[in-house]
Amino acid sequence: MGVPAALFKTASCHLHLERSFVIMHPPPTATSRANHARQVRATAAENTGKKLLLSGQVDRQQSRMAELQQRNQQIQDQNYNLLARQDELQQQVERRARELMALSDDLDQLESIIGITPPTSLPVADRISVASHTAFEKRLLLGSIPSGYPLGEATVTSEFGMREHPVVEKTRLHGGIDLRASIGTQVWSTADGVVEYAGHNPGSGMGKMIKIVHNYGFSTIYAHLDQVDVKVGQYISQGEPIGRTGNTGLSNAPHLHYEIRYLGRRLNPEPFMKWSIDRYKTVFEQEERIQWQSLARTVRNQVRVMDQPSSRPAASLSVISP
Ligand SMILES: [Zn+2]
Repeated sequence: MGVPAALFKTASCHLHLERSFVIMHPPPTATSRANHARQVRATAAENTGKKLLLSGQVDRQQSRMAELQQRNQQIQDQNYNLLARQDELQQQVERRARELMALSDDLDQLESIIGITPPTSLPVADRISVASHTAFEKRLLLGSIPSGYPLGEATVTSEFGMREHPVVEKTRLHGGIDLRASIGTQVWSTADGVVEYAGHNPGSGMGKMIKIVHNYGFSTIYAHLDQVDVKVGQYISQGEPIGRTGNTGLSNAPHLHYEIRYLGRRLNPEPFMKWSIDRYKTVFEQEERIQWQSLARTVRNQVRVMDQPSSRPAASLSVISP
């Protein structure tokens, strides 16, 4: 055992003995040195262990970071591929649109050849022997076939026929007639019929439009509308409001584009718009592509059937009634 840690009194301060102690360490012995060295070694080992642990954690974090960077790179690559694919699809869509446009031009040309030229040259007398039409037959025809104007104030701004298209700037058939109309002008059906199309017609250039199918093979189209007030399948009477004019689709100013079709072919709406009970002959004289004579015969037969008492609903009902 070495000298234990002792309290030594200072020689000069014996008067204040109780307050004059100084803590003194004994000089290190061989044992304490060995202990100290052991302690130092243990601490060093402990530190090395901690360092190793930390270094392991750092390694794991670094590998995680590398993994995240790799994933990030993969996502960027995927994103790049998707953008490239989107570009490719967009180009395909544009190519198809151009092809369709060209096809539509070709169809317009074709229609200008086969559509506008009268398919038959019936003698005028055969087309217009309408003198015998009764007032009832006239009213039936005028209500079933598009007649009159589809809106109140009718000023024609572009006629039916070949023209330079104001938006696409190419020569093509203008398959209808353009009527000046400020946005929101009421549009009505020009004949009794049923709605076949109502709403936006993408790709047609017509914007919001309505197509109504009428009797005897006729149909009408009302395009560039701002508002559509009818639904597909709805039955419409002549003169009934169907929507409001606008500037939708391929249109550079508010107007109504109005078409009359007969068996799918576009006719010049002008004689039909001027057709009325007072100007009854107009349409028969000016539109040669319809077999008016055979149509008039059919109408006459219908009127005859309607006139017969046996065909009246009351008569039919009495058969089933007790
Ligand atoms: Zn037009």
